[in-house]
Amino acid sequence: MVADVLEVRSVTSGYGDLTVIRDVSLTVAPAQITAVLGRNGAGKTTTLKTIAGLLPVNSGEVLFDGEPITKVPAHARRRMGFGYVQENKRIFKKRAVEENLVLGLYRLGLARAEEQSRLDEVYTRFPILAERRKQTAGYLSGGQQQMLAIGQALLNHPRLLMLDEPSTGLAPSIVAEVMQAVQRLRDEGLAVLLIEQAVDTALRVADRVVVLDVGKVVHSGSADEDGLRAIIQDAYMAAP
Ligand code: ATP
Repeated sequence: MVADVLEVRSVTSGYGDLTVIRDVSLTVAPAQITAVLGRNGAGKTTTLKTIAGLLPVNSGEVLFDGEPITKVPAHARRRMGFGYVQENKRIFKKRAVEENLVLGLYRLGLARAEEQSRLDEVYTRFPILAERRKQTAGYLSGGQQQMLAIGQALLNHPRLLMLDEPSTGLAPSIVAEVMQAVQRLRDEGLAVLLIEQAVDTALRVADRVVVLDVGKVVHSGSADEDGLRAIIQDAYMAAP
């Protein structure tokens, strides 16, 4: 069995005195997509922010490659190989596509040749970004903006890619395109943690599923488990 890249063990966290997630456990393995599902306010974004190190863990543990990193700050996690595409904070809309990528590169402090090769990798993966490199990012379509945000995260060669609702606000055909890109990354060996409210979108691509409700894991298992839809339906319908 392949060792997990990320393991979250019984994590409780929230905002100041407000506990939002309780005892949340999940794993993400290389070449797998783990999807965290749950309705509005279930605690999905809070879970991601906690894993990224943007919110402190009140109890429990976070492990990366088997090493505890519970107290490691967000910027250090980024350096260790965390890629995080936050919802609605994706890109600098007033800057050109290439500027968005170059700004992401500066932070990495790479040699010049390596910077160019990382940029080329993103353009090869998302040719539409190469075509639009001089265009203001805010004028890209929603799907292209999402690809730019994912491209930015990939500049760092992450081992774990965390995506917060990448389908939000996109037309179904564009969602399919973005998800294909995510699947391709998974197939290349990346560990992907995908937050989604849209159940069908998530189940189409996920290998493992974690269902959150009111900050707790109400189900976790394989994405092709019999009866999974009924379990998810129950969680979505249950009274808070
Ligand atoms: P959504 O799809 O709406 O983003 P979610 O499952 O991601 O839902 P969270 O954003 O994690 O849910 O929110 C979970 C709970 O935490 C909600 O009750 C929300 O009001 C609360 N919350 C979120 N952000 C903050 C914050 N900055 N300060 C205080 N409470 C917050």
